[in-house]
Amino acid sequence: LVKERGRGSFRFYQPQMNVDLLSRMKMDHAMRRAMEQGMFRLHYQPQISLANGQLVGVEALIRWLDGELGNVSPVLFIPLAEESGFIITIGTWVLKEAVRQAVLWQNAGTPVTVSVNVSALQFQQTDFVEIVANVLKDSGLAPYLLELELTETILVRDANETLNRLHALAALGVALSIDDFGTGYSSLAYLKKFPISKLKIDRSFVMGLPDDEGDRAIVSATIGMARGLKLKVVAEGVETIAQRDYLAGLNCESFQGFLCSPGLPAEEFERLMASFPRD
Ligand code: C2E
Ligand code: MG
Ligand code: MG
Ligand code: MG
Repeated sequence: LVKERGRGSFRFYQPQMNVDLLSRMKMDHAMRRAMEQGMFRLHYQPQISLANGQLVGVEALIRWLDGELGNVSPVLFIPLAEESGFIITIGTWVLKEAVRQAVLWQNAGTPVTVSVNVSALQFQQTDFVEIVANVLKDSGLAPYLLELELTETILVRDANETLNRLHALAALGVALSIDDFGTGYSSLAYLKKFPISKLKIDRSFVMGLPDDEGDRAIVSATIGMARGLKLKVVAEGVETIAQRDYLAGLNCESFQGFLCSPGLPAEEFERLMASFPRD
């Protein structure tokens, strides 16, 4: 609800309200300014093995602390950046920054696989594979230490072109995963066809574990299918010990969630990293 109360008074917006055109344009402008001013950061959220508690990787999550707007959630600005096309600039920055950090960890003798979220528009750039190849080459990162998280939206488009691009990325040696698995409208056929190594079970299915019968069915079927297809599985959004134990009982490989840690700035993540068992 928006209440007009005359000049100088406040307006109250419901959070779920569509952002109107004017604020879209303002946000787009603010995003460009923030990029110029270096106001974006990456946080890193650990993925933990359910079998032995070891660190299996980290997901890079973008953070924007704006001078005027405060903290702006990626849930808000990523969709706007996708609409305006600015996601290309953001996405390239995220890729370079995540790789820069991964190289620091690699060279410190504590290599960790860093997952980067890739938006549909970014993936559709004709030179996307070239960009990834160049960033890797310039950085000296072992390619297997980079993982790209793709959404089902990416995978349903133009099957042939997508398949070629995925094979080209896989040929570089980077790992490919499907993010928010189960929330899209894609066909299961692509799981067999595409060179993907990991599924990330969406948080919306993990939330109801272990009580919700529907979530139990979906999660156990996904894990079973992944095993049959020799794909790794990460459960997203694990917040409770009961959820973690249920997933461990299904032989799910790993989890990510507030139970272990939220996304953290690199230096804070490094302190946490030192506390995980290593072999
Ligand atoms: P996502 O890729 O599925 O990332 C997981 C989101 O769930 C993150 O939210 C993370 O902070 C949150 N999360 C992790 N564990 C828990 C938990 O236990 N409980 C709850 N309630 N939430 C948890 P975040 O960072 O706000 O990002 C939201 C979405 O924005 C991401 O979903 C992703 O789609 C997008 N995003 C974030 N960073 C980037 C980026 O660098 N590039 C692109 N293209 N998209 C990004
Ligand atoms: Mg993700
Ligand atoms: Mg996800
Ligand atoms: Mg998600």
